Amino acid sequence: MLINFFRKLLNWIYFEYCYLCKKPSYKGSLCEECQDQLVRNKITPVKIIDSTPVYAAGFYNEQTSKLIKAFKFYNQTQLYKPIAIFMNELWQQTPYSKEHFCIIPMPLHKKKKKQRGYDQVLLIANEFAELNGYDVDSKLVTKVKNTKPQYELNKTERKINVSRAFKFNKNFYKGQKLLLMDDILTTGASMEELIRTIKNFDVNDICAIVGAEAVLK
Ligand SMILES: [Zn+2]
Repeated sequence: MLINFFRKLLNWIYFEYCYLCKKPSYKGSLCEECQDQLVRNKITPVKIIDSTPVYAAGFYNEQTSKLIKAFKFYNQTQLYKPIAIFMNELWQQTPYSKEHFCIIPMPLHKKKKKQRGYDQVLLIANEFAELNGYDVDSKLVTKVKNTKPQYELNKTERKINVSRAFKFNKNFYKGQKLLLMDDILTTGASMEELIRTIKNFDVNDICAIVGAEAVLK
């Protein structure tokens, strides 16, 4: 009772401001209301790539784009938490959530990581893994080609851009089920290439989840 009281008191003292509505938040970098208002996607996969189901937690709308852009390009690294929670809500409703997975964050080229200063998908993956008791492996698949940002390109150029961009380091593979993770899915070119690269090694126990599904204009 007393412990609960002090915990509540501490939450009130150490509040943050919600990134979206700027009001005080007692639940971390997104307030409870804004977290609840994120538009959820359907529970069925948004894409099946080479028989791999790809789930998307939300749509790329005004709120999610603000959130993901800030997280990805403007150093708002603390947003990994609400994004992971949001993705996990959908994941818990899929038939796979009770199985054990090793998460593969969408590989980031080392030059990009140096420029940005952090690997944003890895941050989400670590939190998501903690919520589910999963493992994370950011070395099993690596990015060997420093591709151009996909948003600058059209659908065909995106495919060419990511072609042979990844390397599956099969010596590290121990037969785990893999959960591929990314922040946004647009045409799915990167995800498709990642799945193709892994499946080339006859690894077929794969699932994928992204934060939001975007429609290419
Ligand atoms: Zn808010």
